Amino acid sequence: MTAAAAGEPQAPAALVDSAPRFVHVEGGAPVENRSTVLATIAAEVAGCVKCGLSANRTVTVPGEGALDPPVMFVGEGPGAEEDRTGRPFVGAAGQYLDTWLKPIGLTRQQVFIANCVKCRPPQNREPHPDEIGACLPYLELQIAAIKPKVICCLGRIAAQTLLGTASSLGALRGKVHQRKGIPVVVTYHPSAVLRDKAGLRKPVWDDLRLLQRLLEQ
Ligand code: URA
Ligand code: SF4
Repeated sequence: MTAAAAGEPQAPAALVDSAPRFVHVEGGAPVENRSTVLATIAAEVAGCVKCGLSANRTVTVPGEGALDPPVMFVGEGPGAEEDRTGRPFVGAAGQYLDTWLKPIGLTRQQVFIANCVKCRPPQNREPHPDEIGACLPYLELQIAAIKPKVICCLGRIAAQTLLGTASSLGALRGKVHQRKGIPVVVTYHPSAVLRDKAGLRKPVWDDLRLLQRLLEQ
């Protein structure tokens, strides 16, 4: 989470523009009605009460980004800053994720970022399997709409969810998986790397290089 200075006023949730931003990157493939489809999914998410996470959310965080992205990043679920603003990966983990993009030639505007669950789990606990199961159809619809060239799972929850496996993250990273015709790579969650830079920076860099090689194909 971004550390707001003590006493610094924060805009109340109602005053934050939390509408998801879908960007048509200049020179990208034609995106027909993708922004309409994504906006429809986001509107459905905004009213969703399919699981218990709806009870404690401030706003939903459907995901946003480029309409024709080389990469779709998938995280776990919103944290405090995301829950306040409606945008994915805008807290400390998100700012760290931004620093992973430039070395592989990408900007935030060029990628799409979403999460396995669209509402913040209380105290940032891991989402439960029933919550992930209830929310997965939205992510499936988003993937089908934007057809990313590659999906990059950030952390164990996203990897296990999208690959339908209980294998450990260590076992899943370092290789290219296929999911419904889309290549999937897996790396550590930026929050985990922030907690253990010495141990995880090198494997993340290797995973990002693998991602970059896929994008160059
Ligand atoms: N962590 C996540 O998994 N997703 C976010 O959007 C922010 C932090
Ligand atoms: Fe609906 Fe997903 Fe939020 Fe659960 S987490 S209430 S399934 S949008």
